[in-house]
Amino acid sequence: MNVILLGPPGAGKGTQSKLLVDERGMTQLSTGDMLREAKTSGTEMGHRVAEVMNRGELVTDEIVIGLIEEKMAAPHGAGFIFDGFPRTLAQADALGALLARHGETLDAVIEMRVDDAALVARITGRFTCGNCGAVYHDQTRPTAKPGVCDVCGSHHFTRRADDTADALRQRLMEYYKKTSPLIGYYYAKGALQSVDGLADIDHVAQAIRKVLDKH
Ligand code: AMP
Repeated sequence: MNVILLGPPGAGKGTQSKLLVDERGMTQLSTGDMLREAKTSGTEMGHRVAEVMNRGELVTDEIVIGLIEEKMAAPHGAGFIFDGFPRTLAQADALGALLARHGETLDAVIEMRVDDAALVARITGRFTCGNCGAVYHDQTRPTAKPGVCDVCGSHHFTRRADDTADALRQRLMEYYKKTSPLIGYYYAKGALQSVDGLADIDHVAQAIRKVLDKH
């Protein structure tokens, strides 16, 4: 089963992807995570990617499609969760072609609906365990013990360079201009399902399970 999680930055795509990986053994393909890895590579390409990402703009289609192509060819679990990809119509077309080439289908596109005011609060309080990737929030999801990861016990946490109010404004603009047309694109293909991304994590997970269990 292959699924796209579609929604603005801060909608909860990464959090829900991780739950699906744990529950269903699926493989999460997050272009954001892949690009953050490329940023730290020290290469010329890494530097260019870092500048674009830190401004909150989209990286070129060519780069992200190449990354996805590579990961789809590698060994993987019981289907893919595309998290943060596709983000443009060109990427959506490329994904369709890649799935067809692998003899795979796209089973669902889940739109996570949230309003902009909630996104600002969500994004600016977000932090991640530097060891296992567990996601926390200063107000709504703090660690049980201050400074200690609930999952792996690590004391090392990171905050994203683009989780600032300025970069978020740009990321939202990019979303509305370039990514939101995908809602109509997948609706027309009969693949679109919407869930309320403002509900708490367990309720959103339940709504996503309901969609996937229909397939
Ligand atoms: P994310 O972790 O999904 O919020 O992505 C963080 C940043 O990585 C975005 O703001 C973009 O700069 C870049 N990025 C991630 N995925 C894509 C994509 N599919 N197309 C273009 N840029 C992307």
